[in-house]
Amino acid sequence: ARARTTPGLMWVDRGERNGQAVDDLRLIANLTDALDRGGIDVAYQPIVERHGRTVAVEALARWEHPTRGAIPPDQFIELARRSGNILRLTRQVFDTTLSDLDRWHAQGHDIWAQVNIDASLLRDPGFFNFVAERIERAAVPPSALVLEVTEAEALALDSERVLFELRELGLRISMDDFGAGYSSLTRIRKMPIDQLKVDKAFVGDIAHDEQSRIILIATLRIAGALGIQSVCEGVETAAQADLLRDFGVHLQQGYLHGRPVPAHAITRLLTDGQTAVPAESAPTPTMV
Ligand code: C2E
Ligand code: MG
Ligand code: MG
Ligand code: MG
Repeated sequence: ARARTTPGLMWVDRGERNGQAVDDLRLIANLTDALDRGGIDVAYQPIVERHGRTVAVEALARWEHPTRGAIPPDQFIELARRSGNILRLTRQVFDTTLSDLDRWHAQGHDIWAQVNIDASLLRDPGFFNFVAERIERAAVPPSALVLEVTEAEALALDSERVLFELRELGLRISMDDFGAGYSSLTRIRKMPIDQLKVDKAFVGDIAHDEQSRIILIATLRIAGALGIQSVCEGVETAAQADLLRDFGVHLQQGYLHGRPVPAHAITRLLTDGQTAVPAESAPTPTMV
């Protein structure tokens, strides 16, 4: 998102830019209040295997602004980053996810959870210590947690060492938004990666763009040979899902399989015997 907004901003009319800055400051104050009150929620989106069974969930931060309604994460994550609140926000998401995961495991659902980590945190010893301490206290094994780091950010920051250390704690590492940046597989090779998460822009192209298909197939083959699990996100149509299955993609995530929902809707999905529910008829949170 940052790459998309930065260059354009320079040409925005100054008055408009100042208005935006004031608005951002207001939002940052509101966000800080929300964090003080533990007001960041977590929605979970199912990650499914080939037969549609939910094997994991991605934790996605949600913020309901008191007057403006839901603010998109791309927006408030950036504000949290800029205002020095990203560690605090991530701690809340992580804690909520761990406690939901503990409950799901106690109910006999052997799923794992994936949490998004801003790459700047990989340079923050406070983050590492927090994770180490929580993992030690948690009832679930550390392997039930996958940390998602955006490909471009992780590579830019030279973060191999701390990723290795997190992995030594037993956590797994996923490269998020893979294919959205310009990195090469050669550089990825040096990273301690357990999972590649192919960006939704890529997935959106495969049904009609031969080049994208060729690149995806090659990437999957290399990932597979390196023992790296593949996930495609942003799967919206049955045609995409079928193609990805044919390509041998291990896991899928997207509106077709299920939207991000509150924890209780995931509990219900897991308890209801995991029949593959078409997205259109999936239970909505209010019915649960
Ligand atoms: P992401 O990690 O790549 O998460 C996937 C995003 O794609 C989510 O957007 C999800 O709702 C959306 N999505 C899932 N399936 C589909 C689909 O089929 N079609 C389309 N068009 N979109 C789909 P969301 O929840 O708005 O989050 C946006 C981004 O905000 C995330 O992208 C992630 O980078 C960031 N984010 C969310 N929560 C956190 C967090 O706790 N910490 C950090 N650092 N970043 C977070
Ligand atoms: Mg993610
Ligand atoms: Mg992604
Ligand atoms: Mg992302």
